[in-house]
Amino acid sequence: EVRTRYAPSPTGYMHIGNLRTALYEYLIARSMNGKFILRIEDTDQERLVEGAVDVIYNTLKLCGLKHDEGPDIGGPCGPYIQSQRRHIYLPYARELVEKGHAYYCFCSKERLEQLRSEAEAKGETFMYDRHCLKLSKEEVEEKLAKGEPWVIRQKMPREGSTTFDDMVFGTITIENNMLEDQILIKSDGLPTYNFANVIDDHLMGITHVVRGSEYLTSTPKYNLLYDAFDWEKPVYVHLPLIVKPDGSKLSKRKGDASFEDLVEMGFLVEAIINYIALLGWSPDSNQEIFSLAELEKAFDIRRISKSPSCFDMEKLRWFNAEYIRAMPAEKFHSLALPYLEKAITNKAIDLAKVSKLLQNRVEVLTEIPSKVGFFNSLEDYDLNIYTHKKMKTTLENSLENLKAALPVLEKLEPWTEESIHSSLLSLVESMGIKNGQMLWPIRTALSGWEVTPGGAIEIADILGKEETVRRIQIGIERLEKALA
Ligand code: GLU
Repeated sequence: EVRTRYAPSPTGYMHIGNLRTALYEYLIARSMNGKFILRIEDTDQERLVEGAVDVIYNTLKLCGLKHDEGPDIGGPCGPYIQSQRRHIYLPYARELVEKGHAYYCFCSKERLEQLRSEAEAKGETFMYDRHCLKLSKEEVEEKLAKGEPWVIRQKMPREGSTTFDDMVFGTITIENNMLEDQILIKSDGLPTYNFANVIDDHLMGITHVVRGSEYLTSTPKYNLLYDAFDWEKPVYVHLPLIVKPDGSKLSKRKGDASFEDLVEMGFLVEAIINYIALLGWSPDSNQEIFSLAELEKAFDIRRISKSPSCFDMEKLRWFNAEYIRAMPAEKFHSLALPYLEKAITNKAIDLAKVSKLLQNRVEVLTEIPSKVGFFNSLEDYDLNIYTHKKMKTTLENSLENLKAALPVLEKLEPWTEESIHSSLLSLVESMGIKNGQMLWPIRTALSGWEVTPGGAIEIADILGKEETVRRIQIGIERLEKALA
């Protein structure tokens, strides 16, 4: 049975790369009829952030990535939080010491600092010098008995190389002398991330390890641990880097948006998931819009690419607009409503009608306020927007046509979209002018804006008769003044 795991370290936010890892792990499990497990990797007690685990639960839930086992729902391999498994790791590290694959190290912080600064002065990267490897069994026993602080380090081979196959990146070989004798158990008795990760992947029966390509070069270290225990290694699926259009790496620290930021910016969860699915994976058709259920069917590890994928906000906006357009009007209205209620204080305005105008005209929900301000009040506007070459309007004919429309609208009863439409179009016909020569000036007089969601008729209907008439009168006065 295929078993994948999402193993986040709780940092307090969901980086786009982390969410992609979770999504691919989920999709691999679902597409292969397997299990998707959530495990919290919180052994780095110094970096714990309050509430950070909730961010993980909430994001997975919001995105519909339902796990089959995890801290909140339990399962046969629990506990699923590493800090609750702290007693598990030390015996395994001792076993490695017994077998000669690991050793106690008593080097002081000062000594290590000293070595580090010496290496840096020479322009080298610091690697532990294996000082404590030379200690005899008796010396180690003595130091332990005296209660000297210790860590346990992995003993790497000094010669040769380690090779492994990655499902995405192919065959990877690392020279063993590049591998540091990394710490497995820290002086506080807790495992390092690198050690706990391997022990737990084994104990939880993980078959596919899916993670960012920044872990590619660490994988030989993990494999040497599997070999030392004589455990079966998982399949490795390393995911391509995510970069920005300028080629630089996407990073929360540099201010790039996290998942929460995107939601706050007005992106829909479904659109984000759809877009992220395509950051490194492509289907075998040219379909672009995928629901999560469709992704579960279509996903295939063999179609993950190793070349960096570009996170492009413009493309995400395109996906978002597609999702907005495709949703039922009522759903869009309920999403738009909080924005509309804030932006439109004029209680006479029917917000559901405004929603209808907006659905095909916004890419993200947060654009809404900037598109509807004219419903509140008419601000001073530049009269030049009456002049439109293609519509064949000038200040003069705008004035003339507004003057013709005013009495027609004043008498109009009832005031509906249909009645406004037919009365204005029959006026246009009787005057022998073009539709645009009437509708452009009216829309301009009603909004004072060059671009609006909706045209003259829709806006007049929403504003109501009284306000429509008032704004047209203002337009007439202003044009008369300008032309006098
Ligand atoms: N805790 C690690 C992280 O958050 C997990 C890496 C892995 O999936 O092995 O990056």
